[in-house]
Amino acid sequence: MSKTYKIAVIPGDGIGKEVMPEALRALSAVCQRFDILLEMTHIDWASCDYYTQHGTMMPDDWKTRLADMDAILFGAVGWPDSVPDHISLWGSLLQFRREFDQYINLRPVRLFEGVPCPLAGRKAGDIDFLVVRENTEGEYTNLGGRIFAGTEREVVIQESVFTRLGTDRVLKYAFELAKQRSRKHLTLATKSNGIAISMPWWDERADEVATGYPDVQLDKQHIDILSARFVLQPDRFDVVVASNLFGDILSDLGPACTGTIGLAPSANLNPEGRFPSLFEPVHGSAPDIYGRNIANPVAMIWSAALMLKFLGETAAHDALLHAIETVLVQGPRTPDLGGQASTTDMGVAIAQLI
Ligand code: ATP
Ligand code: MG
Repeated sequence: MSKTYKIAVIPGDGIGKEVMPEALRALSAVCQRFDILLEMTHIDWASCDYYTQHGTMMPDDWKTRLADMDAILFGAVGWPDSVPDHISLWGSLLQFRREFDQYINLRPVRLFEGVPCPLAGRKAGDIDFLVVRENTEGEYTNLGGRIFAGTEREVVIQESVFTRLGTDRVLKYAFELAKQRSRKHLTLATKSNGIAISMPWWDERADEVATGYPDVQLDKQHIDILSARFVLQPDRFDVVVASNLFGDILSDLGPACTGTIGLAPSANLNPEGRFPSLFEPVHGSAPDIYGRNIANPVAMIWSAALMLKFLGETAAHDALLHAIETVLVQGPRTPDLGGQASTTDMGVAIAQLI
C-alpha cells in the first residue's frame, strides 16, 4: 500500500488560477502511472479575492490548517489594482516562508531544447545549474528606521542580520546538493571586498563548512562579476549559494538567461520536514495576461514535479520533466515561447505524454 501525501493546493491570484489546473492535470496523470496517492485540500485563501471579501489574506488559524500537510502547491499572489503588493505578499507567501521556516529557496536554471535563448550562441545543455537562496534572514529584516525624516538631515538605516545557524544551514544544504551532482562545484556569491563585515564572515563560514566536503570545489565570486558571468559564461555554474538579497536577484537573472519566466520553477524548503515546504513558479500573477488562457503552465508543472522529488517520488519527477522536455521540443507552445497554443493545450499535451 503506497503512502498518501496530503497536499494543500493554493491557486492564489491571476494566472495562478490558470496554471494550477494544468499542474493538477499533470499530477493526476503521473500519480496514476506511478501509483502515488495525493489527498488534495483546495484552498481559496492566500488570495486577493479573499482579502477583498474578508479584509485579511488568510484566516487566523491558517497555520494549524496547513501544519500537517506534506507540501503546499502555490500558484501566484498579487493583484495590485485591488490590494497593495506589500499587503498581499506579507500577508501570505512571506508568512509561509517565515512561520514554516522554509529557509531554502531552490531555483533550477536550465536551458531546454526548443526554447530560444536570449544569450547568443547558447544551446541546451550549456545552462544547467541550481541557485540556492537563503530565504529567512539577511538583508530582509525590517530592522531600522528613519530619523529627521523629510528634512535635509534625513538619515535612513536598515540592518542586515545573519546568524551562524541560518548561514551554516544554507551552506550545508548547498554543499550537499553539489556533492550529489557530477561536477561537484559550488559557487558562493560574496562581496567581501565592499561589504566588509558580513561578507568576509560568509566567506569564513563557507571555508569552514567546506572542510566537511573535500570532494566539492568551492569558488567564491563577488556578486557583481558573478552576475556578469551568468550572462557571459553560464556554463561555469553548477550550484550557486547566496544570501537572501543576492539570491533574490540571481534567481531572477538566472531564468531570464534561459528564455521565458514562464518556465522557471521554485521550491521553498524546510528540508527537515518539520513544516511543509512550498512549491511555486518564479513568476507572479501576471495581471497583464490574465483571463486569456495564454500563460505558460510549465513553471507551475515543473514546480509540482519538484514537489514530487522532494517527497521522494523521484521516478514521477523524472517522468514529468521528460514530458515537459518533449513538449518544449515538439509543441504545442504558448505565445511566450513563440507559439499560439493556450495554457490548456500545453497542459493537456504534457499530461497526455505521461
Ligand atoms: P511578482 O512581483 O509577483 O514576482 P511581477 O509582477 O514582477 O511578479 P509577473 O507577474 O511574473 O511579474 O509578470 C512579469 C511578466 O512576465 C509579465 O509581462 C507577464 O505577462 C509575464 N509572465 C509571467 N508569467 C508568465 C507565464 N507563465 N507565461 C507567460 N508570460 C508570463
Ligand atoms: Mg506582481
